[in-house]
Amino acid sequence: MKISVYDIKDEAKELAYDEPTDELNALMAVGAHDFDFPGPLQVNLIYYRAGQELVFQGTLKGHATGHCARCLEDFDLEIDRPFHCILLPHSQVPAEVELEQEDLDLSYYSGEHVDLSPLMREQLVLGLPTQPLCDDRCRGLCPKCGVNRNREHCDCDTHVADPRLAALQGLKATH
Ligand SMILES: [Zn+2]
Ligand SMILES: [Zn+2]
Repeated sequence: MKISVYDIKDEAKELAYDEPTDELNALMAVGAHDFDFPGPLQVNLIYYRAGQELVFQGTLKGHATGHCARCLEDFDLEIDRPFHCILLPHSQVPAEVELEQEDLDLSYYSGEHVDLSPLMREQLVLGLPTQPLCDDRCRGLCPKCGVNRNREHCDCDTHVADPRLAALQGLKATH
């Protein structure tokens, strides 16, 4: 979604649109492939100019399909992320701002258009959990028989000590 810089005025304008996720899905498939986005994301925002700054403020909503790191099952993740992005003209970047940029949702624009798609992709990725888990308490798969321990019980003894740990415990016992 591109907005002409000349359309961004002091008075806030509203915008609602669907952000496609094809590119994002392609990117995610290359990496750890923790998440997929089955449909477009709903973006609702207002935008306005504050001097040199362009402000984009709103929410990003949609759904992701996560692939649980422990039990390997797919799960649905609801996305509802507020964002507040400020864009500065590329030529006007003071050095100290460049240093602090990590802490702020600050980006730069150049040319006559602002492309919201990369900004929205960034916001979305920032809002995803670092580890995809169907539930914080997911019990994962049994390392011996492979059953999903959230759903099934098995009688495998998974407390067989790692030989290195056993050696350590042996050491402790002698003290
Ligand atoms: Zn899980
Ligand atoms: Zn088992």
